[in-house]
Amino acid sequence: MNVNVKEWIDTRIHEDQISKYIGSNGDDFINDTLIEEKLETAKRNGTNKQRVREIIQKSLGINTLSPEEVAILCHVEDPELWKEMETAAGEIKRKVYDNRIVTFAPLYLSNACVNNCAYCGLRTDNKDVNHGILSLDQVKREAEILAGSIGHKRLIVVYGEHPLSDSQYIADTLRAIYSVKVKTRKGEGGIRRVNVNAAPMSVEDLRMLNEVGIGTYQVFQETYHHQTYRNVHPQNTLKGNYRWRITCMHRSLEAGIDDVGIGALFGLYDWRFEIMGLLYHTIELESKFGLGPHTISFPRIEPAENTPFNDKSNKKVKDDDFRKAIVIIRLAVPYTGMILTARENAKLRRELIPLGITQTDASSKIGLGAYNDAESIEQVSKRQQFILGDTRSLDEVVRELAQMGYITSFCTAGYRCGRTGQCIMDLLKSGAEGKFCKLNAVITFREWLDDFASDETRLVGEPIIMKEIEEIRTKMPQAYESFMENYKKTVDGQRDLYF
Ligand code: SF4
Repeated sequence: MNVNVKEWIDTRIHEDQISKYIGSNGDDFINDTLIEEKLETAKRNGTNKQRVREIIQKSLGINTLSPEEVAILCHVEDPELWKEMETAAGEIKRKVYDNRIVTFAPLYLSNACVNNCAYCGLRTDNKDVNHGILSLDQVKREAEILAGSIGHKRLIVVYGEHPLSDSQYIADTLRAIYSVKVKTRKGEGGIRRVNVNAAPMSVEDLRMLNEVGIGTYQVFQETYHHQTYRNVHPQNTLKGNYRWRITCMHRSLEAGIDDVGIGALFGLYDWRFEIMGLLYHTIELESKFGLGPHTISFPRIEPAENTPFNDKSNKKVKDDDFRKAIVIIRLAVPYTGMILTARENAKLRRELIPLGITQTDASSKIGLGAYNDAESIEQVSKRQQFILGDTRSLDEVVRELAQMGYITSFCTAGYRCGRTGQCIMDLLKSGAEGKFCKLNAVITFREWLDDFASDETRLVGEPIIMKEIEEIRTKMPQAYESFMENYKKTVDGQRDLYF
């Protein structure tokens, strides 16, 4: 087995698929010195209120900011300006995504991994965690629970990097999940969009996954800072190759997967640097492919079983700075989806969502096979990557969002109608995507309330639906009739109707 693993590792990285995206001087597009200089210059120059307000205006026009502009925002001290930035962040979110929040669940399908990342409970040397992968029957069982009992329509499936969970396994599990159909109170349920968080792959592997129907392909750089990357990812591992990872979204776009998700693990290096890294990554994709990331994620480092690195890290991001980071990312890349996960506790999530968040998870379990398993927390912790901060049910989260004035959208239509990549970016930037999304959000929320909501949640959800329908009637009269047709069919039990 060891020999096979080694042979498999040796065939993973394709230098020719890296070098075509690396400059002639051999450098990748993240220039650490340049980033540090820009941050230093902005800090030295201090805050110019007029300049900050100009930057906010540019962002409100749904334009990606420049590195110089983001460096300036990173060093704003004035509380009054922060208030203006937070208000603008919420305004941008409403402009592009209205009052919709998308929910999803994470689903770990394999936690065997050949890598040894210092901060990860699943690293190969951590013998306190049980490594394994799910069979296709187990995968279907997890999907049945998520789609049937909880009511999710959208998943992020997570795989360790291992020959047992290679691209073929990923393809098989995607097909298995999409095949699951379950009876619900009034209709039928199923998972309609499966996003994938997995290791960087070759163009050939990604083409195969695109044919199977992958949603967003998500790979986080973890840290953009080269030396820190080397420190936490041993050089004799696959993940030790910074350049293979930093070019994986290029390969994804080349393979035709045009919804890509980037992210950084906050707590490995300076949070301001990571924001600049995310921005440079965005600018690189925009300049080479004409479109930026579909989503940006910013998980914070969390405690994990037998992983002392996480407790000792001196780069941990405090809540106040995390709040600032979210606001700056929202302003820096105004069109992108922003994902806040259940790593954060419920109270903090409540405070951060209005700052521009578009997606969040609920009912989350991250142990292998954990949705179909009522084992104790202690045992589950031996099968998971880190410890979650918010374990509330989807019903509770949907109810709270409704109380805050948000409609939970279970819409997955954009991807299935080909509104992805450049098309979705143009629609988002112009505000036109909102029209489809509004109609689909109401239809899918109707489905969910009828099929899964508790009485308590239904009570809060109905007024939200009525308000949305009234807005469609008055603001989108040309769409109202066909919308109402689908809405009534949905009330009668028809499922998966979309625009
Ligand atoms: Fe493996 Fe990912 Fe954990 Fe690194 S972070 S050890 S690649 S599962």
